[in-house]
Amino acid sequence: MKTNEKIIKGIKIDPNIFTFKYSCQCNGECCNYGVYADLKEHEFILSIKDRIIPMMDETQSTNIEDWFEEPCEDDDFESGYAVGTEVINGKCAFLDKNGLCVLQKLADLDGVHKWEYKPIYCVLFPLVVFENELTIDTEHIDRLSHCNKHNPNCETTIFEYCTEEIIHLMGEDGFEELKQYRDEVLAGSLNKND
Ligand code: SF4
Ligand code: SF4
Repeated sequence: MKTNEKIIKGIKIDPNIFTFKYSCQCNGECCNYGVYADLKEHEFILSIKDRIIPMMDETQSTNIEDWFEEPCEDDDFESGYAVGTEVINGKCAFLDKNGLCVLQKLADLDGVHKWEYKPIYCVLFPLVVFENELTIDTEHIDRLSHCNKHNPNCETTIFEYCTEEIIHLMGEDGFEELKQYRDEVLAGSLNKND
């Protein structure tokens, strides 16, 4: 382990999350590419298919065979397998014509947490856990035409903006640890500039 490497809840932390400026100002362009879900998340979504289908509109497919790609091995996923959602009519199979995710709509209808049925990658973006490191998905941000592009005066960091998402991933205690680490990182960079 590198001496400056920080691990919280078993996940490495990329310190750039404390300084990267970010704000979310569009209507979900990120969903146009689909997402990778864990094999278990894919199985869960299929297990509630009968409740998802009635939430869909004419721009979506109600044939479950159209929803996912073939699973592929990927160590970044808990089960060791990732399954991509298919793109239908230029958007994720689960995005409706109003730009709403039907998995989140169903969760709202059920009165459970809004992210209960969504793949964790959807929740975290534009953060990502890549090679077991919590970092910024700059590759996907860069290929999107609106994501984080039109706010040159933004002062909010991605860490501040995505507080709710980080707590969802790491819990309140993990988030508190992250805040302490952020303070150390920022104090360190201030000292370097003295
Ligand atoms: S994460 Fe980026 S692409 Fe997705 S809704 Fe926010 S600004 Fe838009
Ligand atoms: S599953 Fe929902 S949140 Fe995730 S990419 Fe598809 S529409 Fe967007």
